[in-house]
Amino acid sequence: MSTVLDFQIPISMIKQYVYCKRRFSLMMIDGEWGSNYKIVQGDLLHEKVDNPFYDEKRGDVFRSRSVPVYSDTLNIYGVCDMVEFEKSETGVNIGTREGLWNLKPVEYKNGTREKSGADELQLLAQAVCLEEMFGVKIETGSIFYGKNKRRTEVDFNEQRRDQLAEIIAMMNQVIIKTELLRVPENQNCSLCSLIEICLPRAFKKKRTIEKQIKSLVSQGNINA
Ligand code: SF4
Repeated sequence: MSTVLDFQIPISMIKQYVYCKRRFSLMMIDGEWGSNYKIVQGDLLHEKVDNPFYDEKRGDVFRSRSVPVYSDTLNIYGVCDMVEFEKSETGVNIGTREGLWNLKPVEYKNGTREKSGADELQLLAQAVCLEEMFGVKIETGSIFYGKNKRRTEVDFNEQRRDQLAEIIAMMNQVIIKTELLRVPENQNCSLCSLIEICLPRAFKKKRTIEKQIKSLVSQGNINA
């Protein structure tokens, strides 16, 4: 991204965009921008120097939790649940510890893997931020799913990187054009918290049907 933009996109918005593009546009255009990026960036530089989040060490590996990250190239920022640093001759100098280190982002999720691939894209976005901040290439990351207690390895291949770049470019365009996107075809809206704002007529109809059912149940005309 060659021009300097006056907004930045939280990495967590990738999941919203993948779930529903309209939802993303409603959240980003009608909602709050979230943290001010320049402040976040300033904090990051400061924290990088002070490294207050290096908190676990075992052998040649240490882990840092809640690591703030950003990428000027993709115009995104966020927080890594954890970054693993492993001592390696093929790694990079991280400036605060002796030796060379390879980096790996690790994300924790309560549920199970989603088919959409959004979790993997968000993890890759974190990796791209780390690559830019530390001048390193990161090949893989991990997602730990709490429900089945499984750690899944995610390969940051070129195909996934292209997909991420494409999605981020489209997200940036939505914001630049302040464009509220249309409801996607075959979108499943049943669990969306924005349905009242996005589809007020459909929401009203749903509420009316629910009311009618409740009324019939209370009158004993149908069983609950
Ligand atoms: S109600 Fe449906 S179309 Fe609207 S934002 Fe939610 S998921 Fe998207």
